[in-house]
Amino acid sequence: MIAQELPNPDESLSSAHCCESQPADKPEEACGVFGVYAPEEEVAKLTYFGLYALQHRGQESAGIATFEEDQVHLYKDMGLVSQVFKESILNKMPGILAVGHTRYSTTGSSRRANAQPAVVETRLGSLALAHNGNLVNTPELRQELEKRGGNFNTTTDSEMIAVAIAQEVDRGKEWLEAAISAFQLCSGAYSLVIGTPVGLMGARDPNGIRPLVVGTIGEDPVRYVLSSETCGLDIIGADYLRDVEPGELVWITEKGLASFHWSPKPERKLCIFEMIYFARPDSIMHDETLYTYRVRLGQQLARESYVEADLVMGVPDSGVPAAIGFSQVSGIPYGEGLIKNRYVGRTFIQPTQHMRESGIRMKLNPLKDVLAGKRVIIVDDSIVRGTTSRKIVKALREAGAKEVHMRISSPPVTHPCFYGIDTDTQDQLIAATKSVEEIAQQLRVDSLAYLSWKGMLEVTGEDPNSFCSACFTGDYPIPVPENVKRSKLILEKIEA
Ligand code: SF4
Repeated sequence: MIAQELPNPDESLSSAHCCESQPADKPEEACGVFGVYAPEEEVAKLTYFGLYALQHRGQESAGIATFEEDQVHLYKDMGLVSQVFKESILNKMPGILAVGHTRYSTTGSSRRANAQPAVVETRLGSLALAHNGNLVNTPELRQELEKRGGNFNTTTDSEMIAVAIAQEVDRGKEWLEAAISAFQLCSGAYSLVIGTPVGLMGARDPNGIRPLVVGTIGEDPVRYVLSSETCGLDIIGADYLRDVEPGELVWITEKGLASFHWSPKPERKLCIFEMIYFARPDSIMHDETLYTYRVRLGQQLARESYVEADLVMGVPDSGVPAAIGFSQVSGIPYGEGLIKNRYVGRTFIQPTQHMRESGIRMKLNPLKDVLAGKRVIIVDDSIVRGTTSRKIVKALREAGAKEVHMRISSPPVTHPCFYGIDTDTQDQLIAATKSVEEIAQQLRVDSLAYLSWKGMLEVTGEDPNSFCSACFTGDYPIPVPENVKRSKLILEKIEA
């Protein structure tokens, strides 16, 4: 089987450095994964649109691999999905199935070679793997795989999973058996979409930390789609069927969908941050849109930390549903006070020094006539470093707000994530080193309150034990080895 990487017609894009218009002050999502098995469809195009809907999950690189008889067509590059792919490229990528990936780097630096899908060769042909999450045993795993003769082209944990499967295939196993054996070697968070010459696999780690859903497209025959979130199904007109379960592997071929529960002890621990912030508000989790859950977070926040004010507003866009919920319970009118320039996104042009100093205005512009003389409650979903929050408060005051009260629809982020979200090292998390009062002083707000941990979990309406909330508690559901912990738990290292 030949894996053919299509040439990049615009090499300048690969080496361009994409700069943020605003310093990243939110946890960054790691990746979006997508896959489709549909021989009668243009699978590359369906995958392109699936990734387009999942763009919020990773903006550094994008890639698609399609499988056509004995050939794999692979194209990947740095940049947004719409920058990486042109119609002429997608037209050169026929196939019966496709695997797609959009990436924000959490393991391995941000460079083209680390873009996914990762393609490796086996005795049964190529496999293409797209991974969302982070393994926590990479040093041991790499050592073990190298001992068995494994070679690596990248520095990603995702390639290690692909190599682990390839080694099991080359030892004589068939695809499913090989994947299940390889999963036993992996510890951490992984939602995977894997293409092979004969079928498409979708799998989640035994804790189901990162989401993965199955949808259907077409009627006769019914074909299957895999996506990190339901918004990836909606965009291509696929119907949501169900979630891939923690510790489940689905195998999609010409015969349909088969399911294998390979983990002896699956225990659901979905990342609560997916529900609070990462996943798109129109995506469905636990039978409702995340917009609805986020409105309830705001309602609970108002019950816990009411303050008198004239206006409730959200930080666009992520704080808006909770601000609406806050307004509903508090009776304080909801309004917009900051307008987001939706077309800024990421730019390849560095702003001038003066623009940088003027703060957040490139992205968010305050409405002076709405804010002047008002006591304002500004609602956001989280504070990580606090740098953006401080600039927002400053902009509101400059626009004439008389009082600024900040309300956060999640608890203080005190611990880093090891499962595929970039929440920085612990010393960069403002709530790890400062009390709520100290943070309020630093942000220069009249008052600051966070949602309680109990309140956040209660309004899910689900078993509170079925979530990971380690970045609020330090209680990691998958044990993190000391050597990996040390890389991010700076405070504990200093204290030790
Ligand atoms: S540590 Fe936080 S961000 Fe990471 S998986 Fe758990 S809840 Fe999500």
